[in-house]
Amino acid sequence: MTKAVIIGAGIAGPALGVALRRIGMEVEIFEQLPADADQRGSWLNFQANGLDALRAIDAGSWVGKLGYPVDTMSFVNGKGRVLGELPMAFRRPDGLTSRMMPRAGLFTAMTDMAVHHGIAVHHNKRLLDARNTGTGVVARFEDGTEATGDILIGCDGIHSRIRKIIDPGAMAPRYVPVLNTGGYIPDFTVDVPPKDFRMQFGTKCFFAWMPTGDGGTIWFANPPMAKEPPRGVLSAMSDAQWRQWLHELMDGDVGPASDIIDAAPGPIMGWATYDMPVVKRWHDSSRMIVIGDAAHATSPAAGQGASMSLEDAVTLAQCLRDCPDTASAFATYESLRRERVERIVANGHKSSADKAAGPFMRVIRDLILPFTFRAGAKDGGQSMMWLQGHHIDFDERLTPATA
Ligand SMILES: Cc1cc2nc3c(=O)[nH]c(=O)nc-3n(C[C@H](O)[C@H](O)[C@H](O)COP(=O)(O)OP(=O)(O)OC[C@H]3O[C@@H](n4cnc5c(N)ncnc54)[C@H](O)[C@@H]3O)c2cc1C
Repeated sequence: MTKAVIIGAGIAGPALGVALRRIGMEVEIFEQLPADADQRGSWLNFQANGLDALRAIDAGSWVGKLGYPVDTMSFVNGKGRVLGELPMAFRRPDGLTSRMMPRAGLFTAMTDMAVHHGIAVHHNKRLLDARNTGTGVVARFEDGTEATGDILIGCDGIHSRIRKIIDPGAMAPRYVPVLNTGGYIPDFTVDVPPKDFRMQFGTKCFFAWMPTGDGGTIWFANPPMAKEPPRGVLSAMSDAQWRQWLHELMDGDVGPASDIIDAAPGPIMGWATYDMPVVKRWHDSSRMIVIGDAAHATSPAAGQGASMSLEDAVTLAQCLRDCPDTASAFATYESLRRERVERIVANGHKSSADKAAGPFMRVIRDLILPFTFRAGAKDGGQSMMWLQGHHIDFDERLTPATA
């Protein structure tokens, strides 16, 4: 039986583990964080194509009830002028739509899912090095232990070690000049229709809020920051500093932002944003490959990082099942995935740039966006279907790219 060593129990890793078990592979997952780590803050827009990918491996129930459904995104500017509205994926024939969910909840569900399928998830295992021995792979961890297998898949996120091992010249993550902060406020409502995420292109800051239907509100903000903050600067900011800064950024804009900032449970925290536009080498000849953020992280503005990681995981398992050897599987996988994911990363980068627009670009943006949204609304969201309408039939046999 082929044995896969997976590095990283974020989103791609556990899903890949479950998918590989379905095709009869032996799997072990190694994760650097302790089992009870809850370091992944914020909320996440989990789009329909991610749920579709999980459903392809009969795992949709692990996230299908997490969080709250989102049907539309409506946009206003700092003066409260309506710029337009975009439907989410309700054109999908299966009716799947997006859900806002806590990132920590999604991560926990993914690991629980892997464990439920009998997969060993080893925590406190920080990978330092890995090598292709010609007949297999050996992974070496910080605690001095090693793991061996036939193939090794780096699901180790945007700062991937495996990416560097495959290609020491691989690009570093690119800084995107907006920060992320946000959370959930129980017992706080906003005047927005249910399932509508209201997004404000504020004068100085992008700010968003959505009522959850049970008396709470999800919110997030993207404070602009032109230069990458030195490591530690954001985590050193106090809750009071965050609130004061957010108030300053939203001062004068029409809407509930100020009340949200006051009502949000603390501590407010923030994250810098990075993406990976083009990772030239995803795999070595036959034994090591990166998927998920390690291969193509996108700015959160795309709302697609988690979903792409899940699509990757399921597609890679199909390729390993249907191709005559691993080299062919990796090549087939890349031919199926590269164009799509790079397009999504480019879209995400553009959305982030719109959020960080200066005074001149803001005027242009506010003039152009209504046309864009009108076009999107007119076709009932059809133009978004390439993104959220992606469907995977796990039983479909793939044709090897090199055949
Ligand atoms: C603030 C924020 C908001 C976001 N919002 C959204 C959103 O709205 N929608 C969306 O779809 N996506 C969003 N994302 C992105 C999403 O979280 C990622 O795209 C997704 O988690 C990628 O999954 P992954 O499994 O590839 O990587 P990760 O989830 O990053 O998992 C990688 C795992 O590998 C582990 N690891 C790393 N290095 C090692 C090592 N050397 N040894 C062992 N283990 C290692 C890490 O600890 C981690 O558990 C957001 C991200 C952030 C930061």
